[in-house]
Amino acid sequence: MSNSKVMIIGAGLCGTLLGIRLAQRGHRVQIFEKRSDMRRADTEAGRSINLALSNRGLRALRMVGLEGAVSEHCIPMYGRMIHSTTGELRFSKYSGREGEHINSISRSGLNVALLDAAEGMENLELHFEHQCLEVDLPAARARFRVGEREHEVRADVIFGADGAGSAVRRSMMARTNELLFNYSQFFLRHGYKELTIPPGPGGSYRIEKNALHIWPRGTYMLIALPNLDGSFTVTLFHPFEGRQGLKALTTRRKVLDFFEAQFADIIPHVPGLLTDFFANPNSNLGTIRCYPWQAYGKALLMGDASHAIVPFYGQGMNSSFEDVVVFDQVLDTHPNNWARALEAFQEQRVGDTNAIADLAVDNFYEMRDHVANPAFIRKRHLEMQLEQTYPDYFSKYSMVTFNEHLPYREALRKGRRQDELLMDIVEEQGDRDLD
Ligand SMILES: Cc1cc2nc3c(=O)[nH]c(=O)nc-3n(C[C@H](O)[C@H](O)[C@H](O)COP(=O)(O)OP(=O)(O)OC[C@H]3O[C@@H](n4cnc5c(N)ncnc54)[C@H](O)[C@@H]3O)c2cc1C
Repeated sequence: MSNSKVMIIGAGLCGTLLGIRLAQRGHRVQIFEKRSDMRRADTEAGRSINLALSNRGLRALRMVGLEGAVSEHCIPMYGRMIHSTTGELRFSKYSGREGEHINSISRSGLNVALLDAAEGMENLELHFEHQCLEVDLPAARARFRVGEREHEVRADVIFGADGAGSAVRRSMMARTNELLFNYSQFFLRHGYKELTIPPGPGGSYRIEKNALHIWPRGTYMLIALPNLDGSFTVTLFHPFEGRQGLKALTTRRKVLDFFEAQFADIIPHVPGLLTDFFANPNSNLGTIRCYPWQAYGKALLMGDASHAIVPFYGQGMNSSFEDVVVFDQVLDTHPNNWARALEAFQEQRVGDTNAIADLAVDNFYEMRDHVANPAFIRKRHLEMQLEQTYPDYFSKYSMVTFNEHLPYREALRKGRRQDELLMDIVEEQGDRDLD
């Protein structure tokens, strides 16, 4: 198995990191990406342009020796800055332990850092503008469209890191009966729309730099994450339907009325509000689950291709990076047999990716609604006190975000029980001081 010919479909975040790791392990790696090289073309239009990178993702970057290079692109965010309808601000720390934070990072900046590292490796080849059309799974052979031509490439093993719309997964679905392939797709009734707060004078930040900003409004919310140039990427998570749903906000007047009523404090900071609102698409949000992830001991899905989740825990990329760490450990256990390694990986990992998919949906309700609820605020206060007093106490959020050695399924199990208990305590205590 050492020095195998490895094919990876997709040079996004997961595929490029996986390629680097497998090349470091001595394999001959070829990565095929349908888009052009993002270092030479602006291919990011319409996608979220920054992401929250946290401990699980950082651990994976450390494994391949890139944590230092990537941290130069990071902006620490120490907590949530919560904006009320009347413009009051309340800061809620992510952790009671000193210094624990998540990081805002540019999606393309991170992807470029990975591509640069991959390009420097002699046993790794990058092929852009190669769209995978289908995979002959038992033969480990993939067919690509390159411009007007089509051609086939063979390998010892193929990894489908081609995102939520995976072509490799489609090839598995074409063999549903043989593989007993299960698949589910669950869309939220909410979509998202991106807007921008441009930099202030001299590249300054118009709102607090080191926080993830949230405007929670019950059934919807707005969030903003900082970028290195002083701008913020703002995302409106909003129902498609309803009197003021995304589909109904069709005129400048309606959009302005909605923002003036709900997000008045942001309006002076978003001079391009109306232009951006009508130029940027309404995008879908959903969860994809499937199983098995491997086929014939020759192909394996990884990252969003096998488990796309909603973005409310900021864990989609982090969990995709963690896939690479877990797979690396599995390769240590099964160094001489791809088929065993693929099988062992899917068995070990699927419980954790199912757990983070559920946690991500939970956090949607927490962010858009509960963060503004007095009982929840008291619970967060109690969690902070517990974390400050007991170094090995982790809130559910901290277990998911900062405790990178705890499997997601454990974070879900323990975190939900803790949440229930703490909510009981704060509800019983009412407004009495918990100190
Ligand atoms: C609004 C939003 C906000 C998010 N915020 C966060 C966050 O804060 N933190 C976090 O951890 N995660 C976040 N995520 C999730 C994160 O973006 C994904 O989990 C992550 O990008 C998954 O990486 P991937 O490499 O598996 O897939 P992708 O990043 O989608 O990469 C797949 C790659 O495969 C290529 N490809 C696709 N089809 C083919 C084909 N047929 N042939 C060849 N190449 C192909 C694509 O062009 C792409 O380069 C967010 C997602 C969204 C939508």
